[in-house]
Amino acid sequence: MIKINDLRTLFEHLKRESQIVGLKKDGSRYFYQVIDLYDDWESSVLLGNFSPKEVFFPQDEVLFYFKAQKTILPKDEVKPNVLWGVRPCDIAGIGELERMFNQEGEEGYKDPYFIQRFDKTLIVGLACTEPWPSCFCTSVEGSPYKSEGADIFIYPTEDGYLIETPSKKGEAAIEGLDVEEVGDVSQLEVDRRRAESKIKKYEFGSVTGGIADKLKQMIDSSFWDSIHSACIGCGTCAFVCPSCHCFDVSDASRGARGLRSRQWDSCLYEGYTLETSGHNPRPSGSQRWRQRLNHKFNYFVEVFGMYQCLGCGRCGRACPVNINIAEIAAKAISWE
Ligand code: SF4
Ligand code: SF4
Repeated sequence: MIKINDLRTLFEHLKRESQIVGLKKDGSRYFYQVIDLYDDWESSVLLGNFSPKEVFFPQDEVLFYFKAQKTILPKDEVKPNVLWGVRPCDIAGIGELERMFNQEGEEGYKDPYFIQRFDKTLIVGLACTEPWPSCFCTSVEGSPYKSEGADIFIYPTEDGYLIETPSKKGEAAIEGLDVEEVGDVSQLEVDRRRAESKIKKYEFGSVTGGIADKLKQMIDSSFWDSIHSACIGCGTCAFVCPSCHCFDVSDASRGARGLRSRQWDSCLYEGYTLETSGHNPRPSGSQRWRQRLNHKFNYFVEVFGMYQCLGCGRCGRACPVNINIAEIAAKAISWE
């Protein structure tokens, strides 16, 4: 572990090789955008309105252009990025996107668009000393001090910043930086416990044996009719979520020329499962909510052994009718 007194030093050091993408104000909201100056970084804001998912998986992107029988890939060169000041829940979200878009084995799905951005990004994480009341990462295997998935991880302390480099990429990136080696980092454990104690804890049980098991027994439960009625199906919750990754694909053409693109989609949209025949296997809000909760707390656990919710609380904060997924999951656990 090393120590620096001013984060500006690290920022300027990393900026020499790559563009920095971090939280920047846009109107009254905060999004991950390119930051030219350290002072443009919104260091006091915990989480952006959108997660950093957009850096790897944009809301709308051209997959290819076509002209008669020919396909042409977009020319956009992906620049090396430093994703700066990302919180542990969002880093976990990026890890989940990687599991989906860069699957293991020869048969596993490999998304070239995601992979080229991911490979060119250095993730600089930042511990959360002051979590928000809507955070619940500790209920879903997270922690405001979890450095897993980051290349470089920053722990703010009373008199500076401790820097960990969990990956070789991170180690290489800080070479040449003027730093002080630190031996005793026991204070971090105290800081971690203090930060965790500020976070609301839901009892979802063990990852595979708790809520996932309960949901398996609730497929035909009346529970689903009891929770969805306020939802207006706007899809905001999926758009702001760091781990939701559903997308739709559409073509636009004029004569023999055109393009194919993909756009974020949401399982809470009525048209999401609508088939060309007019049949919709999930026509009701209760079925769509059953899908959403099961995907987050059951199906993803079955495939990857982890929740697909990282406890960032964004969906609850952004929902126009105050639907809180953690409260719904907690209600499911105690449903008789
Ligand atoms: S943000 Fe709220 S209202 Fe909109 S789809 Fe999600 S849960 Fe429903
Ligand atoms: S489901 Fe909600 S709380 Fe969970 S990771 Fe997505 S936005 Fe965050």
